[in-house]
Amino acid sequence: MKDRTIEVRGCKGYDRATGAISFPIYQSATFRHPALGESTGYDYSRVKNPTREELENTVALLEKGSRCWAFSSGMAAIGALLKLFNPGDHVILSEDLYGGTVRICNALYSKYNIAFEYVNTADLGAVKKAFKDSTKAVFIETPSNPMMLVSDIKAISEFAHLKGALVIVDNTFLSPHFQKPLLLGADLVVHSGTKYLCGHNDVIAGLVIAKALPEVTELLDVIYKSEGASLGPFDSWLMLRSIKTLSVRLDRQTENALKIATWLKTVPTVTDVYYVGLPDHPSYQLSQAQTTGFGAMISFKVKTVAIAQQSLNKVKLVYFAESLGGVETLLTYPIAQTHAEAPRELLDKVGVDERLLRLSVGIEDVDDLITDLAQALTEGE
Ligand SMILES: *Cc1c(COP(=O)(O)O)cnc(C)c1O
Repeated sequence: MKDRTIEVRGCKGYDRATGAISFPIYQSATFRHPALGESTGYDYSRVKNPTREELENTVALLEKGSRCWAFSSGMAAIGALLKLFNPGDHVILSEDLYGGTVRICNALYSKYNIAFEYVNTADLGAVKKAFKDSTKAVFIETPSNPMMLVSDIKAISEFAHLKGALVIVDNTFLSPHFQKPLLLGADLVVHSGTKYLCGHNDVIAGLVIAKALPEVTELLDVIYKSEGASLGPFDSWLMLRSIKTLSVRLDRQTENALKIATWLKTVPTVTDVYYVGLPDHPSYQLSQAQTTGFGAMISFKVKTVAIAQQSLNKVKLVYFAESLGGVETLLTYPIAQTHAEAPRELLDKVGVDERLLRLSVGIEDVDDLITDLAQALTEGE
């Protein structure tokens, strides 16, 4: 089946017992056993819940993975992945990365003697050079957050596999509708489901999807049931409901984003526009080769810090808020929000500064969005 059909219908789809078209919310912590030594397949919802299972199976189908685990946040999902590593292991990460990922690595997991090294994964040579005997994984965000750098998933995976390392892709920015890292060679995909998959700025969720690698999936099963950061049934249902409209939302968001990015290039107070869908983006061709859509995340720099900061106060229709991927257009100030805790030297290297703004384009009327952004980006009023 094609993606659009899977998105609408899910894995099982309707409820076999009643015919309900909307998959039921199994709001139960525990399940009655038919007899000693027997199970319905469900025993306790931390480990397995039918609504969450439907979500997991649906996302596994979309990402072309063998298994999926739904977590209570994207960070819980990333935390589970980091528990795959042992003291002494070395992990290479994109240097232009979600700030929370940098924090969980540096503030928490480095104390277990896991070495994290941040490199520009859009530069294949830099990735190869960073490998050591102890390198166990490469963790890529592509397009990256917030500079929209594109990493070649296939080339990195081929090299990492020669070295016996796993490749993990944070696929939050494009969703499986536009990018399927496992088909390009990656081993694991992680999502902040909070973003495009939930799409309505109303749920916090995370997902991990894996290829059929028994040593990895068995350990993830243990991590999952032991730590208990699993997604609740109602949030799982909200996500199933959102995924039904994923293609429609993404198509409109991408269409709006291209128009806004093209317009931003004509704005006198804007100095740089970073959008993978613009033909002058350095990785335009790589994006076309490894994705089926450009997505709706745009970063841009303005002439002065004052313009950047006033625009946050002046936007009306566009909300000044953290997060992305929802139907509402959000303007984010990475240096003060998503990347506030990332080390300064990393931000300097990547180019995140006080003049950088990030826009998550929603599904509103694009002319209204441009009118609002135009007044917010006008100098000195
Ligand atoms: C938001 C985000 C996360 C963290 O997800 P939460 O759901 O907020 O815990 C991880 N990676 C990326 C790229 C994100 O945008």
